[in-house]
Amino acid sequence: MSELTLEERAQALLLSVFGYERFRGRQADIVAQVAAGGDALVLMPTGGGKSLCYQIPALMRPGCGVVVSPLIALMQDQVEGLRLLGVEAAFLNSTLTLDESREVERRFLAGELKLLYVAPERLLNPRFLALMERASLALFAIDEAHCVSQWGHDFRPDYIQLSILHERFPSTPRIALTATADAATRREIVTRLALEDAAEFVSSFDRPNIRYAIVEKDNARKQLLDFIEREHDGDAGIVYCLSRKRVEDTATFLAERGITALPYHAGLPAELRAKHQSRFLREDGVVMVATIAFGMGIDKPDVRFVAHLDLPKSLEGYYQETGRAGRDGLAANAWLTYGLNDVMQIKEMIEQGGSPEAQKQVERQKLNAMLGLAETTLCRRQVILSYFGETSAPCGNCDNCLEPPLTWDATEAARKALSCVFRTGQRFGAGHVIDVLLGKETDKVRQYFHDRVTTYGIGKDLSEAAWRSVLRQLLAGGYLETDTEGYGTLRLTDEARPLLRGDAELRLRGLVVKKREKTGPKAKITASANIDPADEALWQELRATRRSLADAQNVPAYLIFSDATLRAMLEARPTTLDEMAHISGVGAQKLARYGDAFLATLQRR
Ligand code: ADP
Ligand code: ZN
Repeated sequence: MSELTLEERAQALLLSVFGYERFRGRQADIVAQVAAGGDALVLMPTGGGKSLCYQIPALMRPGCGVVVSPLIALMQDQVEGLRLLGVEAAFLNSTLTLDESREVERRFLAGELKLLYVAPERLLNPRFLALMERASLALFAIDEAHCVSQWGHDFRPDYIQLSILHERFPSTPRIALTATADAATRREIVTRLALEDAAEFVSSFDRPNIRYAIVEKDNARKQLLDFIEREHDGDAGIVYCLSRKRVEDTATFLAERGITALPYHAGLPAELRAKHQSRFLREDGVVMVATIAFGMGIDKPDVRFVAHLDLPKSLEGYYQETGRAGRDGLAANAWLTYGLNDVMQIKEMIEQGGSPEAQKQVERQKLNAMLGLAETTLCRRQVILSYFGETSAPCGNCDNCLEPPLTWDATEAARKALSCVFRTGQRFGAGHVIDVLLGKETDKVRQYFHDRVTTYGIGKDLSEAAWRSVLRQLLAGGYLETDTEGYGTLRLTDEARPLLRGDAELRLRGLVVKKREKTGPKAKITASANIDPADEALWQELRATRRSLADAQNVPAYLIFSDATLRAMLEARPTTLDEMAHISGVGAQKLARYGDAFLATLQRR
């Protein structure tokens, strides 16, 4: 037996297999807990480094670690990544033929595997449960553990039955992991998976490398194009849209303007979806335009931006989607554009949706939290983190911190808008209310004699865009609501009374839509833009070397080395294999396989 302590063995594996010098955050404690045979519940944000928390204990304990994962793409990715590190790993899911499955099962029983990724329905199959009883098991890892929660947004019925693992394999340690953290979901994970005795490891959910920005919608596609051209030329990114049609239109629009953009939504044939996903993973600089059907289980570490063209329905969803940016820890952007129509549309979707009233109430609360974030003049990160129960200081890396938004005394304007809604009978949508405020002579105005109401034309001092902004913020702030029948009509809430009576004041975000352009071009924060211009050529050569090695093995480039590792090479300029071994992310296996190729590239300069 080795005389090293558990901690020392874990540390040695971290370095030799993964090439990392230090554990991050609570990784070391989690590894120690599970390696010693204890259960653990791990809450860590995306990109926090959850995989190591079960991979290293699996390597330390006798037998094979069984990882339950709902996501086929992710399994494949993780298994390929482990193989490149020299770890015996395999997966069992519906993509394998019967013969291939049998071969994996044989290797599992023969003790030839250290990690086996299994889809939940496969794991729960009585035949496979019986098979596991004959195998040597290092641990169970339950990834995406929030899928057991019915209140969560990714509920998977199969996950509920995973409590059977505890009953049938009481002596095998279990580690449940998730990046979705609210207290209710956490409690549900603990009870449903019988993790009452598990140690809980809760990390901060902050993603300091992601810069949050939310801009007022003007011309969404044009704003998106500007954003990509200004800050993300040649970068990989994800653009989220609400509908399939918008996905298609946006992808076409970007492609026509020379951006490698691909659509992804549930209406596309399965092969095309798979093809687009694989191009996104394997090629450099692909922009995926997608509905939220895309992304869960996408582990690509070098996604440099996530853009939303439509308002997300909840802060949880928004944070999870934007969390797919910058997993490698390098600078990344989360960018959202939204306007009055978005607020109307989502409110209507909730009211029109078939959910029972109790569920609708939850949906309304979630939307309100999201609207609160969109309209806040405080640090965005503070607002997000406080929603997840964390307190923090202003971050200095969000739009509101970098350019404090202008606010104005909108009491008078709000009163005009609210009374115009009231005077026209609370039966019209935003467009008509604005027409009346501006004193326009439309057919509708004439039809309803709205040129005779007292609020006709009282809003000529503000532009149409300004009124849209006012109405949006009144809706978001709960002074106005939409009807429940789906006609998009506005009406007053009780909140509106003090404002109308003149008992309350209101400050709103500034009306200056184009403010951003005036401040001049922002410094680019893309990964490649952070490279010293003198190193740019070498950086591109390192990437090309990575690309050709990846193509030769038919794996995504980031599985060879991450951007962070290439940057470390660029900075340290190793000239020998020994020096190369010290680069973060270069473990023994990768040093042997790729060390010479990268040394040669570095020496050409
Ligand atoms: P998560 O599953 O929590 O989203 P991953 O396990 O995919 O995160 O890890 C995110 C990235 O961080 C990966 O590229 C991983 O190799 C890297 N990483 C994890 N732990 C460490 C560490 N201790 N030191 C350096 N890099 C790490
Ligand atoms: Zn901030």
